Amino acid sequence: MIDMNPAGMIRTDAVKEIHAAVDGAMRQDDKRRRYVGASSIGSPCERKIQLEFMGDAHDEGWRFSARTLRIFQRGHVMESMSAVWLADAGFRLTQTGKNGQPLGFKVADGSFAGHVDRVITGGPADIAYPLVWEHKALGSKSWKALESRGLAKAKPEYADQVAVYQAYMDLTNPALFMAVNADTMEIYLELVPFDRVRAQSASDRAVGIIMDSRAGALRPRCTDDPTFYACSDCPFRKRCWGAAA
Ligand code: SF4
Repeated sequence: MIDMNPAGMIRTDAVKEIHAAVDGAMRQDDKRRRYVGASSIGSPCERKIQLEFMGDAHDEGWRFSARTLRIFQRGHVMESMSAVWLADAGFRLTQTGKNGQPLGFKVADGSFAGHVDRVITGGPADIAYPLVWEHKALGSKSWKALESRGLAKAKPEYADQVAVYQAYMDLTNPALFMAVNADTMEIYLELVPFDRVRAQSASDRAVGIIMDSRAGALRPRCTDDPTFYACSDCPFRKRCWGAAA
């Protein structure tokens, strides 16, 4: 007899089987980027950026968790939603150049590159156009930090990304940074003045990583603690920490 009591249906073997099937079907993009990306240059570990750039093998069996892959997808979906909200409000957004390629930059023989979420070319607000539009979908904790402390203090890695786009795409009007709180669907908007010093520092970091990679010199770990948050889902964790991983 089927147990129609909800409590009896919640974690049955059948439900666990469905859960495992959904998780197992999540597809990971295994395409490796052979450049230092603007979106990663502000991340805490230069060694991780370097090993990705050099195309080093990921740890055997390493894979993003299904939950993390869903968070990545959430970011793409929410970015598209936010772009529609802005367009509905009368802003003109573009994602590709005249050649149909994604808008972005590529320097140092293509070793340092990035693709901007959109460029806003016009709209009803009395601001300077064109400008970089950068978007993130965040959980409540990160979103609230952003709301109370602003981009540069709460999320310097994103501020680095924005500054690099502004510098290399020669779009130095204040950028529009937008974040959706994925839990409450509140939005955060900030106009980000061009920070030349920040852009230079991020660019110098990228050049240092590229030069060391060409010279065969490994960048230091970002921490002495293998339990540091950045190491938890790092594809080089075993290689980096050996038995301590
Ligand atoms: S395991 Fe940690 S220290 Fe090592 S590369 Fe990854 S993030 Fe950096």
